[in-house]
Amino acid sequence: MTTFNDFGLHADINRALAAKDYTVPTPIQVQAIPPLMKGRDLCGIAQTGTGKTAGFALPSIHHLLTYPHRATPRGCRMLVLAPTRELAAQIAQSCRDYGRFTKLSVSTVFGGVPINKQIRELSQGVDILVATPGRLLDLIDQRALRLDDVEIFVLDEADQMMDMGFIHSLRRVAKLLPSRRQNLFFSATMPKEIAGLADQFLNDPVTVSVAPQATTAEKVRQQVTFVEQKEKQALLHHVLKGEEIDRALIFTRTKHGADRVVRHLAGAGIQAFAIHGNKSQAQRTTALQAFRSGQVRLLVATDIAARGIDVSGVSHVINFEIPNVPEQYVHRIGRTARAGAEGIAISFVAPDEKTYLRDIERVTRTKAEPVKLPDDFNEMVRSLPKPVQAPRNTGGKGRDPQRQREDAQRRKGENPNRGPRREAPAGDGAQPQSKRRFRPRRSGVGAHKGAVTRVG
Ligand code: AMP
Repeated sequence: MTTFNDFGLHADINRALAAKDYTVPTPIQVQAIPPLMKGRDLCGIAQTGTGKTAGFALPSIHHLLTYPHRATPRGCRMLVLAPTRELAAQIAQSCRDYGRFTKLSVSTVFGGVPINKQIRELSQGVDILVATPGRLLDLIDQRALRLDDVEIFVLDEADQMMDMGFIHSLRRVAKLLPSRRQNLFFSATMPKEIAGLADQFLNDPVTVSVAPQATTAEKVRQQVTFVEQKEKQALLHHVLKGEEIDRALIFTRTKHGADRVVRHLAGAGIQAFAIHGNKSQAQRTTALQAFRSGQVRLLVATDIAARGIDVSGVSHVINFEIPNVPEQYVHRIGRTARAGAEGIAISFVAPDEKTYLRDIERVTRTKAEPVKLPDDFNEMVRSLPKPVQAPRNTGGKGRDPQRQREDAQRRKGENPNRGPRREAPAGDGAQPQSKRRFRPRRSGVGAHKGAVTRVG
């Protein structure tokens, strides 16, 4: 079995890996790290959750340490482009973690936040810059950033970039990069148009891909119940009472929705933790540990927060709200039925979610078994215990940011509960609003069966 020591990575990187308790490289890391250490270009067909970030970050950090020199002012030595702020921040954090025993500098730039601080941060130059394309080009246009000294260029989640309309930005970036550089290109799917984009960036690349996940959907027993949105909580109580659940992951689309589910369950004396982007790292870690150790059987999560959650023994995945991106569904239900175990995925589908369900069935080529509401469901809805109150905070440090936003909305006379706020990874602030929404993918995925991947 390959271990991290076999790669010959810089000692400071190995220290960081030990600190993170990484011992065995994931399949994508086994495939990608050796050719990258040799300076080859790489085309990786892999999705978030496979360990691809370390797959590209470790050999890149190794390169930066092996050939040490200062970044030029307003320049960067390694550029990583990601489609969303969430992902950019996550990648930057991983780079900081893996480079924590080094002096390498890591910066993140994305839209939707003031640009001046970013301009200042870049003025001295940085070793690793993680950016979304729109803000990157803004900074270049303002002469706050130049790309002529980039040694390593990484394009992450290329298919999502295309879906979000970044193609022109990417073409522009390609022209600004120096011709001598190492290129890494990652995409969950590789339809023709993405392969064409890859050709523009890559030079004699090694192609690596991790085992397709589409079969997962076939291994999981999938059920669907049609129910009004406002009655989903009663259905959840019913399901939790009736099913033999070892460990269940409950997915909501919004952070607020996740908290609401937890409060409702608490009202009925059922313990659950929520994990989402508004929780502090400490809260997330506590929740995950409690779930992992079996201390709490229910974890309520949003998609983004659930990335990277890999807990064995999840018997049920409950889609309290179903995702509007079909791959997300595959990703969710892939958390159960691991290592040959039979998992159950139960989806609660409100009338306005039926089109999402159709998209999912088309992409996964499976059909969930319909399960009717129980006969006495109306009575269950009526007798549903009240949720516990959300903790009232008086403000200041540690105050729930979701709550702060809602209070601000109320002060402006807006209704914060109007319409579900999706936890779509906020895209690049430079994009038109309409492009920033999560939209179901209509191309690519279906055309490329089996392209959604996971660590085995
Ligand atoms: P990624 O696909 O890069 O987003 O990684 C998914 C998750 O797996 C992240 O939480 C990583 O910290 C974690 N991870 C990546 N590589 C390893 C490894 N070799 N061993 C354990 N965890 C890992």
